Amino acid sequence: KKKALIIGSGIAGIASSIRLAQKGFNVEVFEANPYPGGKLSEIQIDGYRFDAGPSLFTMPELVEELFELAGKNPKDYFEYQKLEVNCHYFWEDGTRLQAYSDPDLFIQEAEKKLGEPSDHVKEALSKSEYIYEHLAPLFMQRSLHEWKTWTNPDALKSYLRMGKLGIFSTMNEANKKLFDSPKLVQLFNRYATYNGSNPYETPATLNIIPHLEFNQGAFFPKNGMHEITSSLFKLSKDLGVQYHFNKKVEEVLVENKHAIGVQVAGEQYMADVVINNMDMVNAYKTILKKQSQPKTLLKQPKSSSALIFYWGIRRTFPELDLHNIFFSENYLEEFDHIFKKGSIYHDPTVYVNITSTHNSKDAPEGSMNWFTMINVPNNQGQNWDQMIQEAKKDIIHKLNRILKTDVESLIEVEEILDPRKIEFKTSSANGALYGNSSNNKFAAFLRHANYSSKIKNLYFCGGSVHPGGGIPLCLLSAKIMSGMFPELED
Ligand code: FAD
Repeated sequence: KKKALIIGSGIAGIASSIRLAQKGFNVEVFEANPYPGGKLSEIQIDGYRFDAGPSLFTMPELVEELFELAGKNPKDYFEYQKLEVNCHYFWEDGTRLQAYSDPDLFIQEAEKKLGEPSDHVKEALSKSEYIYEHLAPLFMQRSLHEWKTWTNPDALKSYLRMGKLGIFSTMNEANKKLFDSPKLVQLFNRYATYNGSNPYETPATLNIIPHLEFNQGAFFPKNGMHEITSSLFKLSKDLGVQYHFNKKVEEVLVENKHAIGVQVAGEQYMADVVINNMDMVNAYKTILKKQSQPKTLLKQPKSSSALIFYWGIRRTFPELDLHNIFFSENYLEEFDHIFKKGSIYHDPTVYVNITSTHNSKDAPEGSMNWFTMINVPNNQGQNWDQMIQEAKKDIIHKLNRILKTDVESLIEVEEILDPRKIEFKTSSANGALYGNSSNNKFAAFLRHANYSSKIKNLYFCGGSVHPGGGIPLCLLSAKIMSGMFPELED
């Protein structure tokens, strides 16, 4: 059997292991941490369980597809439900809005709470669907680095529709044209943060994202986001994939411009194919440092990072649901701080994710597990200890004002994740959540390909390469990459 070695057990590494095992490869995964999943992991503190990173789950069919590919029933491994309300939005002036996943209910809610004419919201959702229908087949499901992609009929149709696909305006400009209510502009601008970008710079093409939430739906795995990792990890082991934990790869071994294996703790492991799931920038700085460096790719601006307080809260709040957003009063200033000043605005938009609203086992009775997150700049060596202290005060004051409570007195356990720790735990360059930012309209073309053009038998998957960050795109990176291999005969 041919052997494939995978560096990293992030969600794309696990998905790649399944796809290659299914193609007949003998697959081994080397993971630096003692656990699988990378960013998609979980933490437990004193009776509280928290998903460590991702909290929003869209496109579940990409997970199910992996079970089906292996001839298994997804339900034997993984259960999830569709959310009725995608997110609860709160503003300082007392306005509250529930973003129902049913587009008609959402349209009614926006009209009732924000006075937005229903045809505006309908138009926004249908534009989002239009972008999805025309761009997904090209940018999400294929390699951008193979000629056949560009001579495909989908590509030819897209060239003719550049304007309608939002390439020539920013997300904020497009949303201001669509909506009367500044609150709705803010709500739709927030989708830029789903891949760590700035709505005042990123092209309106990213208005593709609301389609995923409103027209297709947002979902919650029965046992939390971590179940995506644990169920796929189990499937890959059932298919015979071997995992080596606490094994940090030191070098990709290259001979005559062919990857021939990896070196771990001084030992060499040989393979026919090497697949890198580690962040591409840090990979070139470490395990590929002797190889020719793709300089333009390496210097692309990175996406934003996050500051998270995992709080065990000894009370329940009936007005809070799984996803809750407490908006900043000045969104433009907030993003200027994140992307231009490299600092944290004193009135940040606060996201609180509470899985105990959907799975009571995640917090002790009468309590809630608050994953409290703000978007922050990626790590450029700022004074994080001081910034974290100030941000904590600002976040608590904001939640106190809007929820009319005293959050600090309710916190019974606390753990903090910041950009430095994200880089330390997962090797992401600058602690960025989603690899390169999409602020530039050419960003999609400036991501690393799913293979090396210089070194044969070396492939790439994960959030820092094509098609980009976030769970669905990481799963697609594994699909595009493994599509480059033929099925092996026994
Ligand atoms: P990663 O998760 O980056 O894992 C890479 C793995 O490689 C790690 O396990 C690391 O230890 C290992 N590794 C690195 N170097 C080596 C080495 N030398 N040897 C061996 N192993 C190595 N996405 C969503 O879809 N929805 C969300 O709501 C969402 N929210 C997020 C919130 C936070 C706080 C974070 C951090 C991310 C969020 N994301 C979200 C993004 C999502 O988590 C990532 O895009 C995705 O999980 C990245 O997966 P990956 O396959 O690229 O690998």
